[in-house]
Amino acid sequence: MSDPLFNRVALIGIGLIGSSLARVIRREWPRTRIVACARHAETLEAVCRLGIADETTNDPAAAAAGADLVVIATPVLAYAEIGRRIAPAMARGAIVTDVGSVKQAVIRDLQPSLPPGVHLVPGHPVAGTEHSGPEAGFAELFHDRWCILTPLPDTDPAALGKVTAMWDRAGMRVATMAPDHHDKVLAVTSHLPHLIAYTIVGTATELGQDLQSEVVAYSAGGFRDFTRIAASDPVMWRDIFLTNREAVLELLQRFSEDLTALQRAIRRGDGETLYDWFERTRAIRRSIIEAKQA
Ligand code: NAP
Repeated sequence: MSDPLFNRVALIGIGLIGSSLARVIRREWPRTRIVACARHAETLEAVCRLGIADETTNDPAAAAAGADLVVIATPVLAYAEIGRRIAPAMARGAIVTDVGSVKQAVIRDLQPSLPPGVHLVPGHPVAGTEHSGPEAGFAELFHDRWCILTPLPDTDPAALGKVTAMWDRAGMRVATMAPDHHDKVLAVTSHLPHLIAYTIVGTATELGQDLQSEVVAYSAGGFRDFTRIAASDPVMWRDIFLTNREAVLELLQRFSEDLTALQRAIRRGDGETLYDWFERTRAIRRSIIEAKQA
């Protein structure tokens, strides 16, 4: 059993990601005390039933008091309020990290309220499923996936090292990136694909009744994969689009132009353009499989 990295970890938000991390901490450092914080009694009851925390509370300040690591794992628009509530309870030298899917807005909302001597190490474990809540979590979620940390110029190197070590033990490959770059990359790899899935599935639900039942019956033709993505938590995704607005809108503009080009190729019977396009995209799938991220 290795020495704990942290003595007391407060997980503010204990859904899919927070509870998966709790399970990792239980597995890797059983002597670390875990405090779970959520709003609803049912969530905290589930945490107790699952045995993934030593204490539960609905008060972020009570969770953060005495913690040497606070991990914020709620939807990102809740961060500013959480930052304000935990700040007075945080001990000097403690670390605050997070798992939010957007980084610039999170830093903007969190940093101002944290007292001097408390280290902020923003992070994003790029791993997930379409399920939510503590029951949906599992320790292997992070295995072989990337975790992107977006330290600030004045982030304490020792704090960065400890958060890196934590995700490393979760089985993640850890990279560091500038926050704005993270937001651009994730707009491409995650945010736009989710928006497209939400659009396609939404469009299908507007179809006439007869067509709708056939959409369900024959969904294996591609639609089913979009429904999985579009089943992701609506609050989490609302917050991502509202906070990564610029990067998503810029990308959406380019996407619309490309869609128009394909639309034109179909209308003109331009098979060559379509073929070239599809051949290029197939190569991207191959490279993802080679990188073991499929
Ligand atoms: P989740 O399963 O829906 O869990 C969210 C947790 O946050 C719940 O415990 C919830 O408590 C709590 N919470 C929600 N709003 C809150 C508020 N205003 N104040 C305090 N607690 C609040 O969510 P998740 O999928 O774990 O996502 C959490 C974060 O991870 C998000 O920022 C998301 O961007 C990021 N992320 C998600 C994925 C993914 O695939 N899901 C992947 C990487 C990163 P109650 O149950 O009591 O409401």
